[in-house]
Amino acid sequence: MGVYSGGKNSNSISSEEELEASNRIKYLSDTKHKIREVLFYCSTVYQCRKQAISNYFAWPGDPVPQECTLCDNCIRRVTDNPVYIDVQSDVLKMLEIINVTTKMHQQITRNNIVDVFRRSQAKEVKSQFGNLAVY
Ligand SMILES: [Zn+2]
Repeated sequence: MGVYSGGKNSNSISSEEELEASNRIKYLSDTKHKIREVLFYCSTVYQCRKQAISNYFAWPGDPVPQECTLCDNCIRRVTDNPVYIDVQSDVLKMLEIINVTTKMHQQITRNNIVDVFRRSQAKEVKSQFGNLAVY
């Protein structure tokens, strides 16, 4: 698929440009994903660093190594003894609220989402969102 721009070989040049643009978009997408993984690695406080690096470079099906118990995060995890809470249902509920409220074609704010999520009893919140099934 080419765009006519005049000249003898305009279709082949255009196809090359499209391919280059497509490759550039894929490269940027892959790079964005890699940057996110690095940022996650830098910001995580309890995931074993050795395990994270092994997972990053692992092939699908490779075994997951044990936590090393030596890195800063392993030591912090033992020291803090964090309580893990499954928030999956809360996240799903939040996504449902975002999905429903953004379809209302009104100006929706983050605070609106939070108000609906926590079922705020404020009059203006109830009047605007009280009739929604997700409220
Ligand atoms: Zn570790």
